[in-house]
Amino acid sequence: MSDALSQIHFDNTYAELPEHFYIKQDPARVPAPKLIGINSKLAEELSIDPHWLESPEGIAMLAGNFIPAGAEPLAQTYAGHQFGGFVPQLGDGRAILLGEVNDKSNTRRDIQLKGSGRTPFSRGGDGKAALGPVIREYIVSEAMAALGVPTTRALGAVTTGESVLRQEGSLPGAVFTRVASSHIRVGTFQYFAAQKDTDSVRILADYAIARHYPSCLATADPAASYTAFLQAVVTAQAELIAQWMSFGFIHGVMNTDNTAISGETIDYGPCAFIDAFHPQCVFSSIDRQARYSWENQPNMALWNLTRLAETLLPLLDANETKSLAIAEKTLAGFSECFSQQYMSRFRAKFGLAQNQTEQDELIQDGLSLIANQQVDFTLFFRQLTRAASGNSSVALSSLFTDQDSFLQWFARWQNAVDPTEQAATILTTMQRANPIVIPRNHRVEQAIQSAYAGDYSPFHRLTKALQNPCAEQAEYADLEAPPRPEEIIAETFCGT
Ligand code: AMP
Ligand code: MG
Repeated sequence: MSDALSQIHFDNTYAELPEHFYIKQDPARVPAPKLIGINSKLAEELSIDPHWLESPEGIAMLAGNFIPAGAEPLAQTYAGHQFGGFVPQLGDGRAILLGEVNDKSNTRRDIQLKGSGRTPFSRGGDGKAALGPVIREYIVSEAMAALGVPTTRALGAVTTGESVLRQEGSLPGAVFTRVASSHIRVGTFQYFAAQKDTDSVRILADYAIARHYPSCLATADPAASYTAFLQAVVTAQAELIAQWMSFGFIHGVMNTDNTAISGETIDYGPCAFIDAFHPQCVFSSIDRQARYSWENQPNMALWNLTRLAETLLPLLDANETKSLAIAEKTLAGFSECFSQQYMSRFRAKFGLAQNQTEQDELIQDGLSLIANQQVDFTLFFRQLTRAASGNSSVALSSLFTDQDSFLQWFARWQNAVDPTEQAATILTTMQRANPIVIPRNHRVEQAIQSAYAGDYSPFHRLTKALQNPCAEQAEYADLEAPPRPEEIIAETFCGT
């Protein structure tokens, strides 16, 4: 039996929603759970005792073999547009929500097992996860959190002792425990809207507003609170995409079922951080049309938000023409909000003050320069930061093959960096905006391959290094380097 400390204080609200919002489903039992790792800090935030989480009972919970008191396991219903095509029913096919807890800052968080067996939504799938994708989601989601990007989190991961069959062959199975501020997606709204079930759309919207955007309730007019909700989601997505792009992140599968209403990054499949900068870069082998390329992400976010707005039309105004006008006006705000956020982040990356809007061309030219010369995105900003701190610019210039165009741009940059601004202030801003270690794709792949070979030390080392992405950490210097030509990984796969 567990002592008082080991209890998870579940406080479930999604399970109180109408029955057609989910299907109750226990996780599958697995033969031989083994711990890969837990996230002690996150456990503490959730008032879960990390020692308990590492105990046999905790591990059994992470594997789906032990259902703690207060958990109400369920699979959530949702739909979604996948690569532009609508699928009226998707749902949690390999994920089970154990329940919700209120964290130490009184934010409600979902605890979900991913890869813990079939649900009524599994269709032809096995409901399981292979070790590789679990390792990837753990590393990348924790890296994003450390970079300050809204994201779902990793509470822990275990192997199950069974094999799962994937394209690559038979692979060790694993379960990932994900923590999210909720798992409500654009696709959740679409599920009900597609059935013309406006009552359920309203119930879901009321729930999402109360949980994520309570300030939208401040208004007396209920229709206005739905407009405010749409506005809030538009803003959150605009901010999120600007952050992704400022770190060279490509989500890879920005389908509406992978777009969280909370504004958190969710569902790390074939995602990656760019090495050599290439705005049209995609990593997903299934994204043949470059729909979700680095530079197309804002367009796709707006496309997804338009799908959300469509579901809310009956709530925005009783008059159809009026509700359309409200939705269009709200969506029209995306571009402005995104541009502001994007430019603000890139001004910081380039060491420019926020009021130096006249330097926006310098930023565009800098990005074109590194794109044309295929310079490593992260390393460029890292070396620019060093140059700003008074170090020699040799390491920076050596990233460029065409020295003349670099030197011309660099001279403009040196003139532009505001002389009235304190050098120390500029430097601090740049250091915060320009990480030194990111989860480079080849390093993630090495961690995965080592894990398959039974060695988790590269996974643990990478995860540790990524906790302080902007700090000088001499012991992790090797993790800064871009891949050598033979290490470049052009595709990641979503075969989870
Ligand atoms: P994703 O592309 O990972 O966002 O997943 C899209 C849909 O496919 C969701 O409904 C998942 O639950 C489902 N799915 C993905 N992998 C599996 C699997 N191995 N078994 C069952 N369902 C799956
Ligand atoms: Mg998904």
